[in-house]
Amino acid sequence: MTISPLIAGNWKMFKTCSEAVKTAKRIAELAKDITDIDIMVAPPFTAIEAVSEALLSINSRVRVGAQNLFYKSEGAYTGEISANMLKSAGVSYVIVGHSERRQYFGETDDDVRKKIGAALESNLIPVMCIGETESEKKEEKTFYVLDKQIENGLKGLRSNELGTLVIAYEPVWAIGTGNTASPNEAESVHRYIRAKIAKMFDNKLSEGIRILYGGSVKPDNISELMSHHNINGALVGGASLDPESFIKIIKYNK
Ligand code: PEP
Repeated sequence: MTISPLIAGNWKMFKTCSEAVKTAKRIAELAKDITDIDIMVAPPFTAIEAVSEALLSINSRVRVGAQNLFYKSEGAYTGEISANMLKSAGVSYVIVGHSERRQYFGETDDDVRKKIGAALESNLIPVMCIGETESEKKEEKTFYVLDKQIENGLKGLRSNELGTLVIAYEPVWAIGTGNTASPNEAESVHRYIRAKIAKMFDNKLSEGIRILYGGSVKPDNISELMSHHNINGALVGGASLDPESFIKIIKYNK
């Protein structure tokens, strides 16, 4: 099965609304001839609707993602945003369980599972982030940690509901640090994740699932990462903020 690659940019808490619109338009312009790669940018909530409208108005293939959601559909949850609100603002993808959410906001695997369920119900594509910390890696617990995050994050969901799910392997020690996992190291973890999905669900889901790598992806390391069979794209933080560097990542095969 051929998997179409996804290059996704996570803008975190950067860019005002007008800055985000300007950046998204520039990326769309630079990427206008690209048809073989899916592209997503995830601005802060305050810019989502404006970025979606701007991209729609120029017929861009660049899609909009959100960086988080809450799993309830509505209610007295001050400060939270539902899947349906995102959908109606033009969102296609939603990042769930980013390590910064887990680390700074106490997000648990149980939250991740509920958020994935809510995203799927609203026809949003969840991008589930998993990955071990530096100390877990040193203690050789990588596969144990990934097993738990996958098992608990996808518990109770059925294979036929998960057809659009994207998994992003983001070793925490590689995020924003300039330390990338070596392409071979990332490939072997991705192979493990794919096998885990086959074991938990079935071969059909596992063979078609997109597994992105994230953690200090830059224009100069993307090609080698993408040359590996089980690496189906990238979730990019810092290097997605500047259109000129993000486009080099998107055009890794040109
Ligand atoms: C991220 O935020 O998901 C990420 C991978 O960040 P960076 O590319 O900056 O390491």
